[in-house]
Amino acid sequence: MTGLSNGHVGKRKAGDITFDEVDGFSAAQLFGQGVCYTYDDVIFHPGHIDFPATDVDLTTKLTRNISIRTPIVSSPMDTVTESDMAIAMASVGGAGFLHYNMTQDEQVAHLKAVKAHRLGYVTRPEVRGPDATLAECDALATSRGFTSVVVTDTGIIGGKLLGLVSSRDGDLVMDRSTKLKDVMTKAADLVTGKASDAIEKLEDALLASKKGKLPVVNDKGELVGLMTRASVKTKKLLPPPGAPSLDKKGRLLCGAAIGTRPADKDRAKALVAEGLDMVILDSSQGDSVYQIEMIKWLKDNLPELDVIGGNVVTQVQAKRLLEAGADGLRVGMGSGSICTTQEVCAVGRGQATAVYKCANLASQFGVPIIADGGIQNSGHITKALTLGASVAMCGSMFAGTTEAPGEYFYDNGVRVKKYRGMGSLDAMAKGSDTRYLSESGHLKVAQGVSGTVKDKGPVMKMVPYLTHGVKQGFQDMGAKSMEHATELRNEGSMRMETRTGAAQKEGGVHDMHSYKKVAW
Ligand code: GDP
Ligand code: 5GP
Repeated sequence: MTGLSNGHVGKRKAGDITFDEVDGFSAAQLFGQGVCYTYDDVIFHPGHIDFPATDVDLTTKLTRNISIRTPIVSSPMDTVTESDMAIAMASVGGAGFLHYNMTQDEQVAHLKAVKAHRLGYVTRPEVRGPDATLAECDALATSRGFTSVVVTDTGIIGGKLLGLVSSRDGDLVMDRSTKLKDVMTKAADLVTGKASDAIEKLEDALLASKKGKLPVVNDKGELVGLMTRASVKTKKLLPPPGAPSLDKKGRLLCGAAIGTRPADKDRAKALVAEGLDMVILDSSQGDSVYQIEMIKWLKDNLPELDVIGGNVVTQVQAKRLLEAGADGLRVGMGSGSICTTQEVCAVGRGQATAVYKCANLASQFGVPIIADGGIQNSGHITKALTLGASVAMCGSMFAGTTEAPGEYFYDNGVRVKKYRGMGSLDAMAKGSDTRYLSESGHLKVAQGVSGTVKDKGPVMKMVPYLTHGVKQGFQDMGAKSMEHATELRNEGSMRMETRTGAAQKEGGVHDMHSYKKVAW
């Protein structure tokens, strides 16, 4: 607040602002009143704009040692993040955390898929061996919506390319036990791409060939990836993703969640062996001896791995995990869209207050925090970041996207995907009960629900628009970057107030006979 003068004066210089002209509260005042608030309770005052929104730099720290360009990550939930989502999130400059409601081998396989992925290739290409049958191609039509497969000698990517079976190779063959080697178009007759070529060159070759698929091979004739006409077309329709998040070896950045049981130490070692960049200790109440012991063990035994502790919502909880050596903290308890913890267990905190308080404490340790849960729109991300979070973690926002696990289905005519809390009975039945129950065999009480969310299209499309919404919010507040927002918040010139119920209603769409909310 430059030019702040004390009280009214007769002769005022242009630019002077008096105390009684400064409305609202600083963050320290607003969150120091003994009431906890969530994002919708709080509204920020506009600042002064002297730069375009495109100039806003949202580069941020995800952990003590890892920076990303897009301050948004996907949650380690079994209806949100597997390899497809982690690839998409890293491709747009954010990151994904693989869930661990699966076996160690399955989780490692997802990590390997992320680390092996080259931007431009399709994720999870369907590859079979020469002795696989047309019946397997038929099954693919049901599960993934297409019937063509690449054939290699080993039946997996990395094997020698033998051929390609598209629907036209096998659709008139009545005997569905016919082997692929008997109907495939042989490698010698296929248009293929060279792995050493730039992606743009391969895309041009694919479009020029007028074929649907381009297997990409190395000099030994081994399959290293697959490009499809459909994915090249989709890419051209999506907003430019910008620079991806990469590890030191140039592979896509990837995180994963684990628990705090003894077996999770082996899981951590196996994940690190495949290049895991950061791990989340997945617990709804992170302030436990188990987590503190696990953080210390990980820092001692896998020092290259950045460890994110949590979840926490108070400064005391945060401090214990930071003192144990956490490189990041996940903040939020009971704020998730699918979560019933506050109802069932009577613990938690309004998310805006939790973020502000924990961020304040963690900044003294030089450790960033992740605002986890309750994010419904770009405004909530803006609020989380300007209140001190370095990154926002989303579950429901990204559930229902193309890259989320699971297939679409119709519910009363609406195209939906499943979304469930990891503490729902449904998820616990699959194994996530170690997170929400103390001992197996005890009564199961759910701390989450299971349901559906609407089809939201590709996350690759959503994130660039979300990010631009956040940049516009930063511009309105007069903050050019994350550091600048921190500066404005700490000096008290970032002003805010709480909103009454009526003001919140007014802040949404109202008094329309009908309308369609299309965000981008
Ligand atoms: P939370 O329920 O979200 O806090 O998830 P956690 O996995 O942290 O904890 C689940 C329950 O298991 C809690 O009662 C923890 O205290 C307990 N717990 C977590 N890790 C261990 C462990 O290594 N050994 C034992 N015996 N219990 C644990
Ligand atoms: P969302 O983005 O959907 O609002 O919230 C996602 C977050 O909710 C997750 O990152 C995780 O921290 C939390 N969460 C996921 N499943 C459950 C659950 O079953 N119960 C509770 N209490 N929290 C959950």
